Amino acid sequence: MKLKRVALSILTALTFSLPLQAASTNSGAKVDYDAAGKEATKILCDYLKVDTTNPPGNEKLGADFLADIIRKEGLEATVVDLGKNRSLVCSRLKGTGKKKGIILMNHIDVVPAVAADWKHAPFGGEIHDGEIWGRGAIDMKGMGVIELEAFLMLKRSGVKLDRDVVFLATPDEEAGGECGAGEIKEKCPELVKDCEFVLNEGFSIEADDKGNAKYWGVDFAEKNICWFELTTKGDAGHASMPMINSSTNRMARALNRIVNAGPNFRLLPEVEEYFTKISVSENGELKKAYEDIKNAVNDKQKEPLLLSDLLKSSMLRNTISLTRMEAGYKTNVIPAKAMAQLDCRLLPDVKKDEFVAFITKLVDDPEVEVKVIDWQSNEPSKLQTELYEAIKTVAKEENPNIPVVPVIVPWFTDSHWMRELGMTAYGFQPIEVDKLHLATMHGKDERLPIKSLENGVRRMHKILVEFCAAK
Ligand SMILES: [Zn+2]
Repeated sequence: MKLKRVALSILTALTFSLPLQAASTNSGAKVDYDAAGKEATKILCDYLKVDTTNPPGNEKLGADFLADIIRKEGLEATVVDLGKNRSLVCSRLKGTGKKKGIILMNHIDVVPAVAADWKHAPFGGEIHDGEIWGRGAIDMKGMGVIELEAFLMLKRSGVKLDRDVVFLATPDEEAGGECGAGEIKEKCPELVKDCEFVLNEGFSIEADDKGNAKYWGVDFAEKNICWFELTTKGDAGHASMPMINSSTNRMARALNRIVNAGPNFRLLPEVEEYFTKISVSENGELKKAYEDIKNAVNDKQKEPLLLSDLLKSSMLRNTISLTRMEAGYKTNVIPAKAMAQLDCRLLPDVKKDEFVAFITKLVDDPEVEVKVIDWQSNEPSKLQTELYEAIKTVAKEENPNIPVVPVIVPWFTDSHWMRELGMTAYGFQPIEVDKLHLATMHGKDERLPIKSLENGVRRMHKILVEFCAAK
């Protein structure tokens, strides 16, 4: 018995100079990534058959499905009933407690799917041409299964952990998370106790048309949301006798100034890093612009080029989308009132008052009422962490010469709930996603290549071993 221990500790000491193999050595157990990939494929196919369309969600079905798998491993799974057939599920692998824990976060709900538009049944969990089809395959049951499989692998290998690893699947993300992650603080804070890090959806590995990785994008921040309602009032009248300052004319002039305001590019240090590092995978003019993004954002002629990528350029500016307009009820009647709404997404360092003043100045008419109807903000997570370093270490082994870059995403995920609890949350799915597959999220024919799922499981496991295994 004693001898065995000595032998093991020598082995441990030897192999920690090769951190990526630590999973199979810290405990002595071998890790079989092929078998894990096959198991994950089977779990995902079954999970996709569980209809958790939100609304109404019915995520209890998904939570029970996941809890069953976890319990079969001899682990405890806590299912928290949040009412109306909605539950979250949580399980914890204990570490030595030497370091703060990590939460593997994912949401159980999916957005609706219109079956008639799909090539294969959205809740069939079928495999066609090497791809797993179903609503949620990418957003985000696929990632949920990747996290679950890596979690089970840690348990089975008996790897000694310095941090607790918590698997957490929640309902209601697609409707804002108030009935999901938003409930944790009040209803079950003990589930996330002693945790400081979160891995969640957000960004992924951008791939080219052939599926080859271009860069690993780790979302550390989400843009703040600022929604406006503009209202104008005037006299109602007969349309045969136009009034220069009618409600509609006043609104049209204000909106004209807003939509013509130009992009107003601003470059945050992390965004500069993003563009300069990803320039290696671009070509031609775009490559030149990204390489020297500092000058490109100040070059009027480069505006159309930079704006040609809607997602990437959203990191360079506060965006304004005119989304609703309402006025009038009859062609020959000038209405007394007009209304418009704007969905604005602000870079993380922009304060609400500052942006309200900007919009008010653009409107340039005191007779136009400018009202903020929603404001949601969250603090970015810092990038100087052991978790970010662990991701970089694994990226180097998985995709040598491909950069890991910080990303600011223009959408909201459940990460903000965790950031509000003081945690460092990264949105990162360790799978290649190309434009074709990205478009299927919230669209039709959502599917994930089996190869991507297998890659994801392996990378997630490696990241967790690198970050959590006792050293
Ligand atoms: Zn999602």
